[in-house]
This record gives sequence, C-alpha cells and structure tokens, in this order.
Amino acid sequence: MIEQRRILATPIPGPRSQDLLERKQAAVAAGVGVGLPVHVTDGAGGILRDADGNQLIDLGSGIAVTSVGNGNARVVEAVTEQVRRFTHTCFMVTPYEPYVGVCERLNALTPGDHEKRSALFSSGAEAVENAVKVARHVTGRQAVVVFEHAYHGRTNLTMAMTAKNLPYKHRFGPFAPEVHRVPMAYPYRWPGGPQRCAEEALEVVTDRIHTLVGEENTAAVVIEPIQGEGGFVVPPPGFLPDLAQWCREHGILLVADEVQTGFCRTGDWFASDHEGVVPDLVTTAKGIAGGMPLAAVTGRADVMDAVHAGGLGGTYGGNPVACAAALAAIGSMEEDDLAGRAREIGAVLGDRLTAFAARFPQVGDVRGRGAMMAMELVADPDTKQPDAALAAAVSRGCHERGVVTLTCGTYGNVFRFLPPLSIGDDLLHEAMDVLEESFAAALAGGPGAGGS
Ligand SMILES: *Cc1c(COP(=O)(O)O)cnc(C)c1O
Repeated sequence: MIEQRRILATPIPGPRSQDLLERKQAAVAAGVGVGLPVHVTDGAGGILRDADGNQLIDLGSGIAVTSVGNGNARVVEAVTEQVRRFTHTCFMVTPYEPYVGVCERLNALTPGDHEKRSALFSSGAEAVENAVKVARHVTGRQAVVVFEHAYHGRTNLTMAMTAKNLPYKHRFGPFAPEVHRVPMAYPYRWPGGPQRCAEEALEVVTDRIHTLVGEENTAAVVIEPIQGEGGFVVPPPGFLPDLAQWCREHGILLVADEVQTGFCRTGDWFASDHEGVVPDLVTTAKGIAGGMPLAAVTGRADVMDAVHAGGLGGTYGGNPVACAAALAAIGSMEEDDLAGRAREIGAVLGDRLTAFAARFPQVGDVRGRGAMMAMELVADPDTKQPDAALAAAVSRGCHERGVVTLTCGTYGNVFRFLPPLSIGDDLLHEAMDVLEESFAAALAGGPGAGGS
C-alpha cells in the first residue's frame, strides 16, 4: 500500500520518466499530448507514484474519473472477480446481470423519480452522441442547441457540439450539421454583470433559439450543469430550472451532460440535483466506474423506449468488467458518503482559494461546487483579461513540486481542482501550500518560477 504522502525522489520528470518520454515520442502519435510527463506506475487514494519513485498529490483524478480514489479496494476486488468469470460477451449478443444492475442504479440515482431506462456505452462522447440520436428520433426534429464554452467530446458530432477550436477542432472539419450555439450564463464575464446574468441569459438563449432555429425544429438543448473543460462555469441560480421549464413548454428535450459533474463530484449525486432540475436525458461517464471505461444515457422511459431494438448499442458498451467496477464504485460512494466528502473538500478548497484571491489580485474569480473548484486567472482584475501564461506557469510550478494540477477554460486561464473524493485534508492542505508557493514564484518570475 502506498503511503498517503508526497515524496520528491528526483527532479520531475525524473530520469526513468524522461526515458519513457523519449520512447513515447518515438512511438505515440504527436497529437496525443501529455500535461505532466511523469510515467505513473502505481496509484492509491490521493497519491500517484511514478517510475522514479516520486509520489505526487493527485488533484486531477484523471479528469474527474477516479473519484472513489486511485486503486479503490472495492473496485479492484470487483474487477478482479469479474475478470475471472468472463470479460466480454457483447450485451447485444448474450446479456449479463452487471449491465442490468448498473442501469437499475442509474435509473434510481439520476434526478427525478419518474420511470427511466438506461443504455450503456464506452465513452462520454459516445453517450452524448446517443442522447442526440434518441432526442432526434423521438421528437422528429433535427436541431441541437449547445452553449458557448461547452465541451462534449472529440467525435465528429461532439466536436461540432464542443465550443473551443484549439486543440479540439482545429482543421478537423467539416463538422456535423444542425448544431446551434447560444451564449452561456457565465456570471463572471456576463456583460450586464453577475446580478443580471440569470435573467438576461435566459432571455438571450430563448430568443436565439426562437429566431435563429425555431422551437419546433429543436430536438434538444444540451448543457453541462457546471461546465467542465470550458472553465468550470457555474450558471447563476435559477438559470437551469428556468431553462428546463422553457424547454418543457416547447417540447424540447433537456439533456444534462453530467459526464464530468456526475457521481458525487459536486456534492450531490448529480449537479442537476442542486436546484432540483430534472432533465429528460442525462449523460454520464468519467466518475461512474472508478477508472474503467463506461458511459451511459439515462432518461424518461417513454423517450428512451421510443427507439427500435438494435438502434442503440456497440460492441463494448456496458462491458461486464466496467459494469462490475461501476457497481463497486457506486457502492463506495454510498457507503463512504462521498457526496458529503465532496462538500467538505469544497469547503476546504473554497477557503484556501478565497484566501489566495485576497492575496493575489490575479485571481479574478473563485467558483465551483463540492470537489469541482476553480480559480480564473486574469492579468488585471478590472479588465479581466485572461492570463493563460500565468496559469501555465503556476501549473508547471506545482508539477515540479509534486502536485498533479489541471488547467482548463476557453482562454486556458482557469486552474481547476478535481481531487479524488477519498483524499485526506492533510494532502489537500499540502497541495494548497504548494499551489501558493508556486503562485508566488510564478509572479516573482525568478528562479523556481516554474520555467525550466
Ligand atoms: C470529458 C467529457 C466528455 C467526453 O467524454 P470522453 O469519455 O472523453 O469521450 C463529454 N462531456 C463532458 C461534459 C466531459 O467533461
């Protein structure tokens, strides 16, 4: 068992990681980039260990995936047991219980107590694609409305739905048609100010759909209840419930893309729960299965069951090993009250980040919920000009000091925190100390400023 402790055994990346990086560059397509080139050999709880014996504090969870902790014992056991029994049949050929079990859990846990059905897939993008397929099929409408700063994946349809050009879309077009983008309710950058954001954003969004698309042409509005890659943008209170209500009035399906926010990350089972929003369809992936590839679409039974048999599926979708992992991960979330733990983590991170904001004027905004927190960095708090270079320098400084950090945002200037929910307060505080030190060093710009 790996001790829950940060250890710097060599400079980061160390010699073994550098050797592996050379092999990576010779063997792996350059388009597959890496953020922090240490080569991980082991993981436990809130710690990742690399090939050189360094132990890093994990504030990324592999992008909100290992929410139940690296190497979660229940997941390891369930996966091992399932691998011994069988690894694959293809559910569409000969079904098995774990798939049905995961769907039962999803139907019970996702927002709303109406009758639901689920279908399982292998990636978040695939789940989003299938939600759109279902929405188009059942409504007989084609248009899909998405938001500025949205991220929904890297397949052709989901590239079209994703907002940001570099790195996701650049020279990869043409993109799928009938995807329409509307402004996001982004309080920090709303032109009329955060107070007016909820009301004005709803007005702009519904007006755009009405005038540019037509309600009767719109199959679905797809939204991340808290945006992930786009910068952890939290819409103001009221925006999501009002949007849901408006969609309902117009026969438009509301799809909540909870791929990043789902499974206790934000302090509820799903981020939609926070304001009692009940989407027609919910997409999940990332945190669902303790690191095994699994994704799902869950929704109203009448909507999901409208699709003909054979219309949904895929060779690997709902793989039995991934399903066993999901059942174990969900069990761990319940037993260890990881939603409650996410709220505690949110309180710790919120306090520390608010203190940073008081010390560093470059912290323009602190936002997020539960264990999905972020700070947005700006060159000047008055102009709010994004400072991606500072975010990159601080992140580099954290990496060199043994903390795995992630940035995000349309402007690349958002520092985000997605620790495993099993992480201890001691590691969290230590990571925040490292962040503070790296921040000060980056601002000083001198030696140890993060640049090498
Ligand atoms: C990561 C993500 C996706 C895509 O998931 P993949 O498993 O990478 O295909 C879709 N939507 C959201 C909100 C995400 O964060």
